[in-house]
Amino acid sequence: MAHINDNYRKLPGSYLFSEIARRVSTFQAAHPDANIIRLGIGDVTQPLPQVSVDAIKRAADELSHAETFRGYGPEQGYDFLREAIAAHNYKRRGLDVNADEIFISDGSKCDCGNIQEIFSLDSKIAIADPVYPVYLDTNVMAGRTGSLMSDGHFEGVIYLPCTADNNFSPSIPNEHVDLIYLCSPNNPTGTTLSKDALKDWINYARANDAIILYDSAYAAYITEPDVPQSIYEIEGARDCAIEFRSFSKTAGFTGTRCGYVVIPNQLTGAAADGSRVPLKNLWLRRQTTKFNGTAYIVQRGAEAIYTDEGQAQVKALVGYYMENARIIRDGLTTAGLTAYGGVNAPYIWLKTPDGMSSWDFFDRLLSEANVVGTPGAGFGPCGEGYFRLTSFGARDKTIEAMARIAAM
Ligand code: PLP
Repeated sequence: MAHINDNYRKLPGSYLFSEIARRVSTFQAAHPDANIIRLGIGDVTQPLPQVSVDAIKRAADELSHAETFRGYGPEQGYDFLREAIAAHNYKRRGLDVNADEIFISDGSKCDCGNIQEIFSLDSKIAIADPVYPVYLDTNVMAGRTGSLMSDGHFEGVIYLPCTADNNFSPSIPNEHVDLIYLCSPNNPTGTTLSKDALKDWINYARANDAIILYDSAYAAYITEPDVPQSIYEIEGARDCAIEFRSFSKTAGFTGTRCGYVVIPNQLTGAAADGSRVPLKNLWLRRQTTKFNGTAYIVQRGAEAIYTDEGQAQVKALVGYYMENARIIRDGLTTAGLTAYGGVNAPYIWLKTPDGMSSWDFFDRLLSEANVVGTPGAGFGPCGEGYFRLTSFGARDKTIEAMARIAAM
């Protein structure tokens, strides 16, 4: 008999986005003339930078000739891209990250989800709450948690509450954990972790022989100079942290697919016999077995953003979304709502008024302003009472949505 992995049955269905779609289509059917504006999306809407388009076309031309054709690429990614990333995102900022510590992938979702495979099943995990759901769900699938309890928490997971009360900066647990998932800038709260907060986490991780899994997929959106873009800006991080980055939101690659993981050479984990094993070797083994590389043309497209022209285009792209973020944040504040994020991230996290639940606020916004956002409760129990709007929409729709909310 083929038994299934019963851990999958612990997961609730993909309730959040299907429930949003259901409520929106029910509303649209009842109000066919309503002009609904969607500010719930986490996908980009503006075109790829022209430098990337040109590089992808050139690379595709190379593949059309036997002399320049390329088949399987190196599993860790082409040197040209790993070296460009090391030079621009790390070395130029005075950070000690080398090309041989970078693993190119087809996006951060797979990396954040797959990384847990190289750790023991009895690892104790700590996860920020609310946060990108992939970290928790992949650990549930792997069997690293118990069941979902009636309060919305999974048994056996250490949740790290991030609410207005602690400035959305999770507190250090007063017990031992092995793996810590941190996301900064955070999806959905749009808030960031300070250097001091990261320093505390690094001290904790080193004292507990724990590993920090640091997702900075939105690093390109950081505008304030004091906010760290990489965990390796903090001393000691190379001994305890893995970093995930993506070209998705940095350069509009959500459909094109490219991301990377940094695993420092010196980073090790304990084997059952007590010996220390470099985590980089395990990840390389995992990737060479289960992954066959990111498309050559995509890696050329990603490399192109590190030219001067590419940097200018990416800056303009991120600037477009960040101006939307400013419009949303100002619009909400003017309307008397309390809003967080939107300064170093494309997400604005608002407190629902009058203690409304996330879903009640969703319904109210849809029916009174015809604007769709995302209920905070969908990102973890501590997201209840909050609501996420994104700045990835078109400018005119964003302005119109804010005018409608102001009129509510
Ligand atoms: N990490 C965070 C925090 C995200 O919000 C997302 C996407 O929304 C990802 C990772 C995954 O990005 P991608 O797989 O497109 O690189």
